[in-house]
Amino acid sequence: MENSKITITRALKEQMLQHARKELPYEACGVISGSADRGPLQFYPARNELQSTTRYHIEPHDLYRIIMDIEEQGHEIWGIYHSHPASPAYPSETDLKQSYYPDAYYLIASFADVKKPVLRAFRIVDKQVEEVEIRVK
Ligand SMILES: [Zn+2]
Repeated sequence: MENSKITITRALKEQMLQHARKELPYEACGVISGSADRGPLQFYPARNELQSTTRYHIEPHDLYRIIMDIEEQGHEIWGIYHSHPASPAYPSETDLKQSYYPDAYYLIASFADVKKPVLRAFRIVDKQVEEVEIRVK
């Protein structure tokens, strides 16, 4: 698969981790806009309508508002982000079942060690997981 490495800014990473920290002990979620040539551009935090420690579902109104804004900007859904409060930064069975965006990167932040959160990225196509290396600049 092409694009086995992605580059995100430190600021974008911090925004995602801060949002997840704020939502603990629940899973946090959000969307990252971007474009094929410019990469990731903006993080949109969203509510997890499940308010669960092990699952997430982006609140539908949030998702609608986010997608409208991304389209208005002429951008695309670049990534889907969520956190794992206590488990590793790897897609769960549930994550595989609800991976509706084969063109997006799936970013997962683990807070199993709350002082040292781990952020990893994946492509999920037909429930097949492939890790993508994250570079932070
Ligand atoms: Zn998950």
